[in-house]
Amino acid sequence: MNYLDLTVAEIHSALVEKKVTALELVKTCIDRIKNDKNNSYEATNFDEALKLASSIDDVQPNEFFKGIPYVAKDNYSTKDIETTASSNILQGYVPTFDAEVINKLKKAGAILVAKTTLDELAMGGTGLSGHKGPTSNPYDDTRIIGGSSCGSCAAVAKCDAPFALGSDTGDSVRKPAGYGGLVGMKPTWGRISRFGLFPFAPSLDTIAYFTRSVKDSAMLTNLLVGHDDKDMSTSLHKTEDFSEYLKKDNEKKNIGYFKSVIDAVKDQTIVNHFYHMIELLKKQGYVVKNYEFPSDLLNALYPVYMVISCSEATSNDANLDGIKFGIKPSGKAKTWEEYMMEARTKGFSPLIKRRFVIGSFSLLAENQEELFRRAQKARRLIVDQMNKFFETNDYLLLPVAKSVAPLIKDSSDRWNPNPNFVDNHLGIANLGGYPSLSLPLGYEDKLPFGINITGRQFEEGHVFALGQDIENITGLKNTSTLKRGIK
Ligand code: GLN
Repeated sequence: MNYLDLTVAEIHSALVEKKVTALELVKTCIDRIKNDKNNSYEATNFDEALKLASSIDDVQPNEFFKGIPYVAKDNYSTKDIETTASSNILQGYVPTFDAEVINKLKKAGAILVAKTTLDELAMGGTGLSGHKGPTSNPYDDTRIIGGSSCGSCAAVAKCDAPFALGSDTGDSVRKPAGYGGLVGMKPTWGRISRFGLFPFAPSLDTIAYFTRSVKDSAMLTNLLVGHDDKDMSTSLHKTEDFSEYLKKDNEKKNIGYFKSVIDAVKDQTIVNHFYHMIELLKKQGYVVKNYEFPSDLLNALYPVYMVISCSEATSNDANLDGIKFGIKPSGKAKTWEEYMMEARTKGFSPLIKRRFVIGSFSLLAENQEELFRRAQKARRLIVDQMNKFFETNDYLLLPVAKSVAPLIKDSSDRWNPNPNFVDNHLGIANLGGYPSLSLPLGYEDKLPFGINITGRQFEEGHVFALGQDIENITGLKNTSTLKRGIK
């Protein structure tokens, strides 16, 4: 057994009891990162991590994250560490400041050891589109780990680190968490400062993270939430100790699910596990019912998400022009337009270009009403319907995905002309800004699959409480070592 294979709570106890040192943990973390076989990493921070770890010799019981190594998706600004968002356009860009979440973790004594790969600029769901090529699944490297937070998910799934930062605009932490047997959390929109997170679609973007237990996720939420003057979209809502919800009986017990989504899952193992879980929750006093969510709204999820996210991305990423950051074109350009065109042609992959085309087209003056505004109106209808759902239900419970992690050869991030809502239902939580948690539900041929809980805005505590009840039922806590036979 290696201490790095444990949950943050367990490593923390070992640090307090001086059974292990921060330096030993960081050294193991570095060794594992050096032996990475899944293409999980961008720049590393080894020297600084070793220096920080050497300076820690005493950890108090209230210093939960002190001395804990972690990794962060490469779309977080990190001072003096190259940050590319896995895009060639940002090659060589070294930020001069830390993102607020990186800053909070640093203050808490957590140790950033490396940055992780992502789908370029966080656009994508496969982990195949980053500038360093595909990131694979540690359970089976012919499969995807999912995206866009692919490297962070792979890192925690193979115990390189006990937790990792990702980001979630449509499902980018919660879906990979399902494919990697992890707990993936996206809190309420505005709960956590996004200062220093490269924007993809700010009306949907959320700080999000991977852990190997519900408790670790609640503790990380405690640390990261709160208003930040540097991000005026952060809320002033009261912060609380979310781990308290794990200790008492959960008083919110009404669960709804959408049968139409479950019916679209063709994998019977996943369907059976899901309905079996419902029966077990009923035995614990939960009331679980089907809710008829209008199918036209479910069918609208993908186009609404794509039009809104691509439009926002097109506008945000207009600053990536090769002038201020990143790659420099050849020098042949005669005008600034030519210069920018060369930088952007070289710097972006086809996936990004396709999405910018969708965004620019939706924002064209003559199309705006018919595409962008219409998508916004449809978003309002979806959110109104969800708010109605939450009048009688405390949670939405659904499978994370329709299958275990797909094969790399079968995966693509191209525009889907025949979308099915079963592939996009997690995006509901982004459209409405709801907190949403994925956690392990079971295995099929040694590959994990997950279950997802979405709650009302600012009810993270209750989401964790239900998560804890499910984790207790499945017993699937910190499964990575067990199932992957890490020595
Ligand atoms: N799969 C979604 C997309 O392709 C989600 C991305 C995300 O959450 N960053 O846009």
